[in-house]
Amino acid sequence: MDLGIRGKRGLVCAASKGLGRGCAEALAEAGVNLVINARGSDALHQTAFEIADKYKVEVTPVAADITTDAGRAKVLEALGQADILVTNAGGPPPGMWMDWTRDDFIKAVDANMMTAILLMQALVPGMMERGWGRVVNITSQSVKTPIGVLGLSNTARAGLTGFVAGMSRQVAGRGVCVNNLLPGIHDTDRAVSLDGGVAKAEGISAAEAREKRQKTIPTGKYGTAADFGATCAFLCSQQAAFIVGQNILLDGGASNSVM
Ligand code: NAP
Repeated sequence: MDLGIRGKRGLVCAASKGLGRGCAEALAEAGVNLVINARGSDALHQTAFEIADKYKVEVTPVAADITTDAGRAKVLEALGQADILVTNAGGPPPGMWMDWTRDDFIKAVDANMMTAILLMQALVPGMMERGWGRVVNITSQSVKTPIGVLGLSNTARAGLTGFVAGMSRQVAGRGVCVNNLLPGIHDTDRAVSLDGGVAKAEGISAAEAREKRQKTIPTGKYGTAADFGATCAFLCSQQAAFIVGQNILLDGGASNSVM
């Protein structure tokens, strides 16, 4: 299917690896010129080179911590304006609810709520002026089915979800569609690290932890960054013009609910 976005300009945050990279690849395949971001410069430049080489689009890497004011300013300066914004950042660490300090919460809210909101505030007004835009925020399955040890993530992402619920309806009339994509367990470094946490907590091997976690998913396996990215690219397509303010769960059926 032609997504109708060839020649558009997009920003994909936290995109040298994992789900962000999956989104960047799928958008590049659809012909979108990109600015991609991550903190580590080497992997980011390599990813930018590989994507540009494979899909023959412009890919500009900007190494910066997207959760900081300085990092966002650097990325926005290189970007200029954008038609498509994919917000993403690393997830907070697991832990116990009574151990988290105020600083832990502020850090999680900065990374997984305020970063997305501030980027939307910077870029959506231009999209509204030009009458077309797409925003996809990468959040988490934990928004719909909170996971106790990921309480910092549950808290920050619930705040972003509430913001998007209101704001997406305020901008839709100007051609801008804002939605959230909620990953369940996907085969990325983050999943491997969480497997390690389960292995440590339960005194089992990482392979056993993975097998155990896979059994909680009806499909019996982890999702892939490529499939996740394809869904993101569809949400950024012309055809997604009637999808507004949704929280779309990609979890292999793991969350057992009807809504
Ligand atoms: P990942 O494989 O660990 O990849 C993280 C990417 O983000 C890397 O490119 C990393 O590069 C970049 N990054 C991390 N922190 C950054 C920052 N502060 N500024 C800029 N770039 C940053 O993670 P993932 O699995 O793709 O997960 C993406 C998001 O989805 C996370 O918020 C995660 O919590 C959430 N999620 C993932 C899963 C899953 O199963 N994978 C499930 C639910 C939710 P650098 O380290 O070089 O910066």
